[in-house]
Formats: sequence, C-alpha cells, structure tokens
Amino acid sequence: MFDVEKIRHDFPILSTKVHGKPLVYLDNAATSQTPKQVMDVIVDYYSNYNANIHRGVHYLSQKATDAFEMARDILKNHFNAEHREEIIFTSGTTHGINLVANGFESLLKEGDEIIVSALEHHSNIVPWQMLCEKTGAILKVIPITEEGELQLNTYKSLLNNRTKLVFVNHVSNALGTINPIKEIIELAHNADAAVLVDGAQAAPHIQPDVQKLDVDFYVVSGHKMCGPTGIGALYGKKFWLDKLPPYQGGGEMIATVTFEKTTYADLPHKFEAGTPNVCGAIAFGKAVEYMTEIGFKQIETYEHELLEYATERLLEIEGLKIYGPSSNKTSVISFNIDGIHPYDIGTLLDNMGIAVRTGHHCAQPIMDFYQIPGTVRASLAFYNTFKEIDSLVEGVKKAKAMLS
Ligand SMILES: *Cc1c(COP(=O)(O)O)cnc(C)c1O
Repeated sequence: MFDVEKIRHDFPILSTKVHGKPLVYLDNAATSQTPKQVMDVIVDYYSNYNANIHRGVHYLSQKATDAFEMARDILKNHFNAEHREEIIFTSGTTHGINLVANGFESLLKEGDEIIVSALEHHSNIVPWQMLCEKTGAILKVIPITEEGELQLNTYKSLLNNRTKLVFVNHVSNALGTINPIKEIIELAHNADAAVLVDGAQAAPHIQPDVQKLDVDFYVVSGHKMCGPTGIGALYGKKFWLDKLPPYQGGGEMIATVTFEKTTYADLPHKFEAGTPNVCGAIAFGKAVEYMTEIGFKQIETYEHELLEYATERLLEIEGLKIYGPSSNKTSVISFNIDGIHPYDIGTLLDNMGIAVRTGHHCAQPIMDFYQIPGTVRASLAFYNTFKEIDSLVEGVKKAKAMLS
C-alpha cells in the first residue's frame, strides 16, 4: 500500500516552514529531499567506520571498503548491469558525461559525427561541443516538435556511417518528456554508433534495465533520487569501459607505476582515481534501497495521478500555458502565464512557502524553440500530495491577480 503520509514522516525537511508558511517543495527535478534512513547511514558512517578504502588492512578500512563495494552491487542490481565493474562511481551526471566525452577523444577523427537532441541539459551539450572542437567531429541536432517530443524521422535521416555517438536524455528536465530511448538506441546500433543516455531525470521515476535497453552508457546523479549531492554513477558496457582511456590519473587507478611506464588498474578502479566519495556512495546505495522498498512501479503510478491532477487544475487558470504537453512524460510541469515573467511568479510563490524553479532550467535551446525567456517549473516527487497541488494552484492564482 502506498501511504504518502507515512512516507512524508521519513523526510524531516517536509515539515519545516518557509517565510512562516508550511513548505511546499516542488523543485524535485533540481534536487530531491533526503529521507532519514539515508541520513542515518551518513551519521553511522562518520560515527563508526570512517576510513579510506581498498588500501588498508585494518578493521575500519575493511568495513568501509565492504560497504562501498556493497553499494556498487546495489546499483548493479538496480540497473541490471551484467557485471559489477560496469558501475563507476562519479560525482554526478555531469562528471559521468565528461568522463565518456574525454574517453572518446582518442577514438574520434575529423569528419566523424555526433548526434545530440534539442531536449538536452547544458551538461549534455557543452562536453560534446568541446569534444568536437578538439577532434574536428561534427555535432548534429535532433529537433523537437511543439509537443516537446523528438522528431524521430529527422533523427533517422541524420544517422549514417560517419555517426559515432548519439547522446540523448531519457527524460527532459525542462519539460518532463520521456524519450523513446529503446528505439533511438536500436537505430544508432544499426549505424554502428554508441549511445549515451543521460538518466539524471529518469532515474528518480523509472527503473531502467540497461541490458534490455542495450544502452552503451547510462549516467545518473544520487541527489536527484533521495541520495546526497556529490555522488553519481556511470553504467558503461564492459566492452566500452575497457576501450576508453582513464579520465584522471592518480591513486587507486593504477596497477604499477614507474617513471618509464604506468599500467592501469582493472575496472572499475581505472575510472575511480583518488579517494572516492565513500560515504556518498554508501548513502546513494541506501537511497536506491529506500526507493526500491517503496516500489518504482508504485512511485510511477502515484506520480502520474499527481501529474494529471496538477495539469487539469493548472489549466483552469486563464492564460496559463503548459509547454511540452506530451502524453508520455514524468511529473514535471513547465508553464507560463500570458504577459507575466516566470521569475515574478516564482518569487511570489516563494513568499507563500512554495518552492518551484524559474528560468531556462539549463536548457536554453528548448526555451529558444518556444521563443520564451524561461518557464515556471513545478516538478513533483512521490512524497508530494494532492493538497500541495491545491496550494500551488491557489498560489499561482493569487500571483496572477497581483501581477496582472
Ligand atoms: C540535473 C541534470 C543534469 C546534471 O546533473 P548534476 O547532478 O548537476 O551533474 C544533467 N542532465 C539532466 C537531464 C539533469 O536533470
């Protein structure tokens, strides 16, 4: 049974007040809140077994190493990776993407092509532009439709024997659109191109099966799925991770070092130079376990009901437009009201204790497409309630009355 009131007790921050009003937290696509089960793991780590890992023979180091590697197994099972060494701990999605982009530098040559989508977060655009500058490869873009969906026919026409890589997000952070990544991956593989999927925005809502998807790389951030900031994971097919050169040099990632030649450690350590975020990884593992216990299917179903209710209620407001009204989306609503700047609505909502995001959401190309400076974005999580949606709708109505 999905019991939202019981779940909310796990999140102390949800009962705080902001400007004297009960907090209504609707900025989950920027970062999610942390349940006390995850906080307990952090306190336990620093209270009882804080130590550096992999190198120590002593008790604490062994214990920390075991917990860190156990977290890798939790993620391996969650994403259904074939091998545990296909999970690399990173500091987040941005780090994971840069690691892969850096690795491909030695595999690309002038005239090769990279395809990205027009729905991407800046962190999935800029690293590829940098890669193209360094290698002479050419960046091609899959355009979107008015509904905020990718134009698959154009994508098909962009693929050819020069295409080496395709980068697309699983879910758009600005609009919430769920992209047909299985089809995108199949088409890319038919052209012998590898695919990296940015799963930052999908992972909090959908449990992906990397083997079924046959995806080459899948990246996520811990802080968007109830874990702490500064930790994330990269799934990479063993074939590719063996092929790519290391990202950073340092301790932990080497097998032998002499001044003549260094040989690299085996996976996953080859990509985990230096002391990793040990506590973060353990807490991330706990966050995944926490969400799994609630159930990703239950989360998806409940969030969908919240989304439908919020969409219907917001559209009661005259002059309100929702961007990217795809029928296939997660619980993100990006909207504007005729003649009112999104920032002004966001500021007034904040005064009422309601946290939303305003602006371009690190996705300026999407804003350019709709010819707007930005939107107000309400992004819902499984711990939000119908009552909070009512507060949002009342808040937007009040803001509109004050600003028109
Ligand atoms: C948040 C986000 C990122 C960046 O994640 P970081 O944790 O800041 O590295 C990348 N892509 C998408 C779709 C996102 O939502």
